[in-house]
Amino acid sequence: MSHHPKPPKLGQHFLADLRFGERIVSALDLRADDLVVEIGPGRGAMTSLLLQHAKQVVGIELDSQLVAELERRFAGRAPILHADILKVDLAALCERYGVSTCFVFGNLPYYITSPILHHLFRFHRCIRAMGLLMQWEVAERVVAQPGSRPYGYLSVLAQWYSQPTLVLRVPPGAFTPPPKVQSALVTFRILSGPRAGSASRRGALAEAVMTPEQESAFLEFVQLCFAQKRKTLLNNLGPLYSRTRVQNALGSLGLKPSARAEQLGIGELLPLFLTLRRQNSGE
Ligand code: SAM
Repeated sequence: MSHHPKPPKLGQHFLADLRFGERIVSALDLRADDLVVEIGPGRGAMTSLLLQHAKQVVGIELDSQLVAELERRFAGRAPILHADILKVDLAALCERYGVSTCFVFGNLPYYITSPILHHLFRFHRCIRAMGLLMQWEVAERVVAQPGSRPYGYLSVLAQWYSQPTLVLRVPPGAFTPPPKVQSALVTFRILSGPRAGSASRRGALAEAVMTPEQESAFLEFVQLCFAQKRKTLLNNLGPLYSRTRVQNALGSLGLKPSARAEQLGIGELLPLFLTLRRQNSGE
């Protein structure tokens, strides 16, 4: 047998310290009637805990060997889908189980944390809340506020669709094999209803409802604003808008021409987007 174990495939670090399992599950605020979609149940350490707190758990696991083990262990208790989470249609899944929204839990495979977050937020309408274990540094980016070092596009994306909270630090020793990084549990309360409405609740804007297409256009705009973090908005927005137009928009919002995206919250980025669009359509 080799004394040099291969690096774990598919980001497999299984929760071994079940005291953390209990702490995680009690931080989730699960409801007795929840359908929980579990991303990567692995060997089922969290699955059995989730089953004690929710009505139903559906596991989505990519590793066929683990799927076989899980199916044996949870036969008749939790269906296990052999699938890549990035290809799962959560809306169809909810429909199949007769629910309008589900709870998403996952001790995520860290190598695809960001694609998973993007994928999940595409289905924000059918998610009530989420609890996701991720690498500490990514958790910091998700909850970061403007002006702080980790603040960026991922922060805006997460905070546009949800209220994320970093609730628990989990040390490497809680997993087998231990990852090289610290982990964090982040809970997400998905904001329902129109996003612009939720932004205005934060005192940002009294604007009309945005369509899903406008929301996507806004998030693409934010991505461009952060294209090169150290550059000014004037430079980053160059491919889309003339300098004069950006200068005018910044000026009308009381922002400096040297403003950078990293200093602006949703409360400023959204009005900037809407102002530039209005100018674009010649209003
Ligand atoms: N939930 C288990 C636990 O806490 O012990 C395992 C967590 S482990 C960090 C990540 C799990 O996600 C592994 O079981 C891995 O096989 C699975 N996985 C990796 N990529 C996946 C994907 N694209 N779709 C679904 N599951 C995936």
